[in-house]
Amino acid sequence: MAAAGNKGKRLSKYVDNYVVFDLETTGISSVKDDIIEISALKVKNHERVETFSRLVNPGRPIPPGATKVNGITDEMVQNEPGLVHILPEFLNFIGGEILIGHNIQSFDLLFLNRVAGEVCGTAVLNDFIDTLYMARACLPGLSHYRLTDLAEYFKISSEGAHRALNDCVMNQICYEHMGKLLKDVDIPVCPRCGGELTKRNGKFGPFYGCSNYPVCRYTKNIVV
Ligand SMILES: [Zn+2]
Repeated sequence: MAAAGNKGKRLSKYVDNYVVFDLETTGISSVKDDIIEISALKVKNHERVETFSRLVNPGRPIPPGATKVNGITDEMVQNEPGLVHILPEFLNFIGGEILIGHNIQSFDLLFLNRVAGEVCGTAVLNDFIDTLYMARACLPGLSHYRLTDLAEYFKISSEGAHRALNDCVMNQICYEHMGKLLKDVDIPVCPRCGGELTKRNGKFGPFYGCSNYPVCRYTKNIVV
C-alpha cells in the first residue's frame, strides 16, 4: 500500500532532526471523531529540544470509552481552546520537519490532514516516518507492535501511556533505538525519495517499486 490519503512520503531511515507527534481523540474514526489532545517533541541531532502539548476542547462530550483509554475528561477540556486556536500553533511548531509517530500513516496523519483542511484550508505535506512499519522491519520477532510493546522490548517505562506527550517521549526513545538497528536490517530503500521498495509483480515478472508510488515512480529490476 502506498501512503493512501496522506500528502507526504513515508520514509524509512534514521534521521538526525525530526518532530515526534501524537494525538488523543474521541474515537477511532479519522472521518467523524475529534482531537482532544495534541503533543509534539522537536528533536535536533537526536536530542529533544522543544515540547508542544495542548488539550483541545472538542465542543462535544467525550465518549466514556475514549476517557477510559486516555484518561481525558470533559472537565479537563472545558476551559481549553478549540482546534481553531491550537491547530495553527501546532502547524507552526512542526514547520517542514519530518514527522515521526506510531501508526500515523493510517491514523494520526489522516486526522491531521482532515482538520488542517477544515480549520486552516491547508494540508500537511511533511514527509513522515511511521514507527509501526519500522518496528515490523527491525524487530521481526515481536507478537504485537503497539507502542507499549516496543517500550517493553527496549525496557522503557510506559507509565502514563495514552497521554499524547508521554507517548511522544516513549516513541522518541524507541525511534532512536530502532534507528540504530536499521542499518543491520535489509530493507530495500528507494534511492530517489528514501521510501521503502516493495516487491511487485509486473507483466515481465517481479520487480521492486517505491511504496510512495505514484508520488515517486522509482522501480528497479530484481536480479535473479
Ligand atoms: Zn521513492
